[in-house]
Amino acid sequence: MTDTNARETLIDLLHGVERFNTEVFPKNRELFASLADQQSPGTLFIACADSRVNPSLITQTKPGELFVLRNIGNIVPAYGEMLGGVSSAIEYAVLALKVSHIIVCGHSDCGAMKALLDPDPSKLAKMPTVASWLRNAEAARAVLEVSDAGPASVRSLAEQNVLLQISHLRTHPAVAAGLARNTLTLQGWFYDIPSGEVVILDEASRHFVSVHDAIETLRAATAASRAQTQSA
Ligand code: ZN
Repeated sequence: MTDTNARETLIDLLHGVERFNTEVFPKNRELFASLADQQSPGTLFIACADSRVNPSLITQTKPGELFVLRNIGNIVPAYGEMLGGVSSAIEYAVLALKVSHIIVCGHSDCGAMKALLDPDPSKLAKMPTVASWLRNAEAARAVLEVSDAGPASVRSLAEQNVLLQISHLRTHPAVAAGLARNTLTLQGWFYDIPSGEVVILDEASRHFVSVHDAIETLRAATAASRAQTQSA
């Protein structure tokens, strides 16, 4: 990128801020005022840092609704492996913000999954931090290699990685306690960039189901717990 092009990119960003201040902010003044000194998001959303993945857009949520944690490959190191940004965000979201849900969202064409599936040693040698970070997803590839689901693809690896990172989440003490108390749920998602489709991991079958089916399952669970409360 030339200097001029790089400068234009920055100018575009600043123009965006101007539009936000003059057009978007005035229409949402009350919302921002209500968020001035508090937040109570219901969900911790863990996604890849990929520029094409936009958590608020795909969930149609407003500021204040999602506590977002993003990194390369939507990875959650198992507790104790790498105490730092990821583990502290999880601890804070669960213990201080008391989120009810944690979602791990993988996506199509993920660069991290491509690097994991087909590592280029010369590229990775220049990025030792990335290489070391991706080790937290290594087990996903190992599982695919022994499964009989056909040849591993970037998509199947991304889905397996979501499952793996959810299992890593369970090793975090705050998450384990929340699950034991039934105050927290974990859910895996996969977002397909070209179709816009999101599929939801069904914990019981370990398969991905449509958003519609996931809503039906949740509705049925709500009806069942209501019936239980009434008969009790
Ligand atoms: Zn990615």
